[in-house]
Amino acid sequence: MNLELLRAQAQTCTACRLAEGRTQVVFGEGRPDARLMFVGEGPGEEEDKQGRPFVGKAGQLLDRILEAAGIPRETVYITNIVKCRPPGNRTPLPDEAKACTSRWLVKEIEMVSPQVIVPLGAVAAEFFLGEKVSITKVRGNWYDWHGIKVFPMFHPAYLLRNPSRAPGSPKHLTWLDIQEVKRALEALPPKEGKAVRPVSQDPLF
Ligand code: SF4
Repeated sequence: MNLELLRAQAQTCTACRLAEGRTQVVFGEGRPDARLMFVGEGPGEEEDKQGRPFVGKAGQLLDRILEAAGIPRETVYITNIVKCRPPGNRTPLPDEAKACTSRWLVKEIEMVSPQVIVPLGAVAAEFFLGEKVSITKVRGNWYDWHGIKVFPMFHPAYLLRNPSRAPGSPKHLTWLDIQEVKRALEALPPKEGKAVRPVSQDPLF
C-alpha cells in the first residue's frame, strides 16, 4: 500500500452522506515523505471543482503564509478531515469526520509520517486533541498525537474574514505561529535533505 493506491481507493468512497453532493473526492497532496503536514476541515467549492485541497482563496492565503515563512508548498503535505465537500460548506458532522478520518486521514498520516502536524481550525484541532476545543485557546500551543508534534493554527478562511494585521489579531498570531512551526522543524533532525529555507523577516501574506 502506498499513498497513490490509497488515493485511488478513496476516489470511489461512499462511506458517509457527503458522497452524495460531491463532484469528486479531494484527497491530500504534497510530498509523500513531508516533515510537515497541514490538516484542514474539508474541500470548498473550488477544491470540489479542481479535485485538489486548498486551491481556493483560503488555499491561496495558506500559500502566501508558507511563502512568507520560507516553507515551499511542495515540501509539505496538505489534506483535510473530510475528503468530500459538505453541502453549502457547512461544518462536517461528527459521524462524517469519524468515517473519513478512520478510513483515510489516519492512513495518510501513517504513510507520510510527518514530524509536525498543523491542524487548521477547530474541526481539525478537535480530531487531534480528542475533544471539543476553541481554536483561539489551543492555537499556538504544542500537543502530542501518537508521538507526533501537533500545533494548531487558525484556518486561513478565518484570516480572510479577519484581515487586520494589528498586534494580537488572528493574522499577527498566525505569523508568530508559522515562525514557531519553522523553528520547531529546524530543531528536529531532518528526515532527508533540508525541507525549509530561512524565515523571512516580514509577514508578506
Ligand atoms: Fe468517504 Fe470521506 Fe467522502 Fe465520506 S467524506 S464519502 S468518508 S471520502
